[in-house]
Amino acid sequence: MKIAVIGTGYVGLVTGTCFAETGNTVTCVDIDEKKVSTLQQGKITIFEHGLETMFEKNLHQGRLFFTTDLATGIKDAKIILLALPTPPGEDGSADLQYVLKVAEQIGPLLKEYTVIVNKSTVPVGTSELVRESIARNASVEFDVVSNPEFLREGLAVEDFMKPERVVVGTRSQRAIKVIENLYAPFTRQGNPIILMDERSAELTKYAANAFLATKITFMNEIANLCEKLGADVDLVRKGIGTDSRIGKRFLFAGIGYGGSCFPKDVKALAKSSDDADYDFKILKAVMSVNDKQKTKLIGSMKKYFNGSLKGKTIAMWGLSFKPYTDDIREAPSLYNIQELIDGGAVVRGHDPEAMENVKKIFSDKIQYSENQYDILQGADALLIATEWPEYRNPDFERMALAMKTKVIFDGRNLYGLDEIAELGFTYYSVGRKIVNGNSK
Ligand code: NAD
Repeated sequence: MKIAVIGTGYVGLVTGTCFAETGNTVTCVDIDEKKVSTLQQGKITIFEHGLETMFEKNLHQGRLFFTTDLATGIKDAKIILLALPTPPGEDGSADLQYVLKVAEQIGPLLKEYTVIVNKSTVPVGTSELVRESIARNASVEFDVVSNPEFLREGLAVEDFMKPERVVVGTRSQRAIKVIENLYAPFTRQGNPIILMDERSAELTKYAANAFLATKITFMNEIANLCEKLGADVDLVRKGIGTDSRIGKRFLFAGIGYGGSCFPKDVKALAKSSDDADYDFKILKAVMSVNDKQKTKLIGSMKKYFNGSLKGKTIAMWGLSFKPYTDDIREAPSLYNIQELIDGGAVVRGHDPEAMENVKKIFSDKIQYSENQYDILQGADALLIATEWPEYRNPDFERMALAMKTKVIFDGRNLYGLDEIAELGFTYYSVGRKIVNGNSK
């Protein structure tokens, strides 16, 4: 089947590559000329586990193409998938200009019945707007389907190839047949395609992300309370996570959620609720707690250094918003870097994948090293912002020798308190007691 994917970012490139992997001929369209030219030359534009091999294979086998020209991209396509940005507008609502602009352009280019599938995260009612935009200029039949994407960055290929479920919002039986056929290779093991109306599908995506952001935030509030009451959030987590009604995942306390989805989707859902005259109180609390949580360890750091970070050298491990990705959008690390700079500290950063992206924002305002230990040389403190695996069992002796002060501010609770106490580090984590080592 011939397929077009419009928008070749994280979602679009993974979608295009995975549909090519199952034998379809896929053309990915993007307005970013540099991105398209890089992809045409066989170079991948994002880091995503397992994607590069699949991308190269499908490119060489002639099933994956890239273009900046929409008409070329959608020529003969039976399905057009939209994977366009929906960033927050000034009032927090999802900005639909990219989606609606493409919808308007597609209309006159359609030559036969086509299914337009929206994978972008969009407010309830967008399918109708897309349908109206296309219909204004179209002379053939078409259907618009809402098919929200649930892939997780870092595990995107695995999530796409083996989705837990595929949500499809449409009332058109004709479109359902096309979509079921498209997803058949991905749902063979019984993972369901859940059919519903467009509005419910659109809301399902926001409900999922808002629920997960709330779960994380609830646990962060329990962690903050643990600190006040002398309890240990890791033990509380184990205690509640074994309850199958609660589940083990998304219960890890830390310095808040970030990324390209949770912050913007929670904001957009809150705005949609306001617009619908519904006061969604939990969402407002989630946003405000998360905002504070991101830089809470800077407060502890300031106290530790008697109120001022001026002239202190702070090493940071982890810059991406989560491990296994180079994505730094809304990463807690960025807020911490800014506060450290504002406080007069010298910041050094390490990340296995995200340093290039951070350089685009902070350039030489911070120092970088490819080696996680180099940035510790003479450092006054280490701040851990992302739980990359290489930080989990580090060479503590090497760290102790390199650092000027043996103090760690761990935003991801990577180390056991007993272990760290034995090593003589002073250790601040989230929702657990402070370990006072022989650091000073
Ligand atoms: P992205 O910013 O990485 O990619 C979007 C791409 O669209 C960019 O390459 C941009 O150049 C391109 N684009 C913009 N206007 C265009 C146009 N007129 N024609 C062609 N291309 C155009 O965004 P993303 O992370 O892939 O997210 C896309 C959508 O999917 C968003 O709505 C997002 O909320 C949703 N989503 C993202 C994730 C994720 O993990 N990133 C997961 C699920 C859903």
